[in-house]
Amino acid sequence: MEKKYYPTIGLEIHAELKTQTKMFCACKNDPDEENPNVNVCPVCMAHPGALPVINKKAIENVIKVGFAVNGKISDFTEFDRKNYFYPDIPKGYQISQYKYPIVSGGNLADFDITRVHLEEDTANNKHDRGDFSLIDFNRGGVPLMELVTEAMTFQNDEEAAKGATKFAKELQLILWYLGVSEANMEKGEMRVEANISVSTDPKKLGTKVEVKNLNSFRSVERAIKYELDRMTKLIEEGKGSEIVQETRGWDDSKQKTFSQRKKEGSADYRYFPDPDLPKLKLHEAFDLDAIKNSLQELPQVKRARYKKDFGIKDEDIEVYVNEPSLGMWFEEVAKILKDTGKIKVSSNYITTDFIGLRAKSGAKLPSVVNFAELINLVSENKISSRVAKDVLAMIVIKDESPIKIASEKNLLQSSDTGALKEIAKKIIDASPKVVADYKGGKEQALMFLVGQIMKETKGSANPAISKQILIDLLK
Ligand code: ZN
Ligand code: MN
Repeated sequence: MEKKYYPTIGLEIHAELKTQTKMFCACKNDPDEENPNVNVCPVCMAHPGALPVINKKAIENVIKVGFAVNGKISDFTEFDRKNYFYPDIPKGYQISQYKYPIVSGGNLADFDITRVHLEEDTANNKHDRGDFSLIDFNRGGVPLMELVTEAMTFQNDEEAAKGATKFAKELQLILWYLGVSEANMEKGEMRVEANISVSTDPKKLGTKVEVKNLNSFRSVERAIKYELDRMTKLIEEGKGSEIVQETRGWDDSKQKTFSQRKKEGSADYRYFPDPDLPKLKLHEAFDLDAIKNSLQELPQVKRARYKKDFGIKDEDIEVYVNEPSLGMWFEEVAKILKDTGKIKVSSNYITTDFIGLRAKSGAKLPSVVNFAELINLVSENKISSRVAKDVLAMIVIKDESPIKIASEKNLLQSSDTGALKEIAKKIIDASPKVVADYKGGKEQALMFLVGQIMKETKGSANPAISKQILIDLLK
C-alpha cells in the first residue's frame, strides 16, 4: 500500500509598516530613499546613551491588523531585546517582542494565527560591490510587523503550497486595505518564511526546516513544493534521519532550496524585557473601540456583500476585491442597473472586455451613465454583442453616449426581417458553393453565410434572426 505523507506548514511573515518615522526614533521612514545612510540618528545607530521612544502609530497599525484577523488585542504588552551579533544590527540586539505580543490568536484563509508582534527592521547589507560589504542603515529601525501562524497540516503537497500562497496574498491584501503597509514583496516590504515538515503520522510532526528569502508569491509556492518533495524522497529512501532542523535559503535562479545554517533555539537569543522602554496597557493607552470602528470594509466582507447583492461570479468578485477602485465603479454601474437583471452582464463587460482594452492601450473608465447605456443597448438587442465591443472600445478613449455613436454610425441592430431577408437573398445568390455545402449537410456553412450578413450590415444585424431567415430561405 502506498504510504501517505502529511505536509505541515507554518508561516512567519514580516511586513514593514507605513509610518512617518522609524519605530524608536524621529528618523524618516522612507523606503524609496536612494541615498544610503541619510535617515539615521544616534538612536537607530546605537550611540551610547541614546534612548528609544515608542512610535504609537506603529502600534496602532498592528492593532488594526489584529482586529482584521480576528485576533485578541493584548491588554499588557512589552518590548524585549533579542540578542545576536551581526553588522546589520548596531546595538547587538534587535528590539522585538517575546512573551507579550500585541496580538494573540486569530485566523486567516486556511491558517490559525499564533501572534502578531512588533519589532524593528535591520539595516541593509550589500554584498554585491566587490571584496567588501556595505551597510545602509536607512532601513535599520523601521517598524516591522511579524505575524506567526500555527503549523497547519494539509492533505497533500499541492494543497500545502497553494494554501500558504493564498494566505500570503490575503495578508498582503488586508495590509493594503488597512493602509498599514505597502507590502511590496519585490521591494522586501513583505517577506515570507515557511516552516516546512513532512510526517507519515498525522498525529506527529516531522522535523521542520525553515525556508527564507521568499520574495514573491511564486517563490513561496515553488519553494514549499520543492522542499516537501526533497523531504518525502529522503523518507522514501529510508534516509529520513538526514532531515535536520535547519534554515534553508531559496535560490530563485536554480529553483532549489539550499542549507544555510543549523537553527538557533530561542535560548540562544537571551531575550529579556528592554529596560529602556515602558510597558504598555493597550486598553488604557489606546481607544480600541474607535480603532476597530475606523476599519474599512475588509476583503472577506466585501466578497460576501458582492456575492449577495450582485450575484456575480467569484472570478469577477476577485477582480474587484483586488482593485477596489474598479469595484467602486462597478457598484455605481450596478446602482443604475438595479432590478433590471443586467448587472451580471455589465460585470462581464468590465472584467473581460474593459480589462482587455485597458491592458492593450490607454483605455480609461467611461462615465457610469454611458457604460450603463451600452449595457442597456446590448441586453435589449438594440446592438449586437459585436457592436457593443466596438462601441466600448470607442467610449473608453472618448467618453460619449453609445446611443449617439450607434445611431450616427448606423450600428443599431436591425431586427427588420424584411430588409434582412433581401440581404440574405443577395448573399445566397452570391455564394452557390457554400449553399451547396449547407444543403449537403455541412452545418458550418450556415455560419459563414450569417457572417456575410453581419459583414454586409456592419455588424448591425441580429445574428439569431439572420440565421433563422437563412434557414427558412434555404429550406
Ligand atoms: Zn534614527
Ligand atoms: Mn522577526
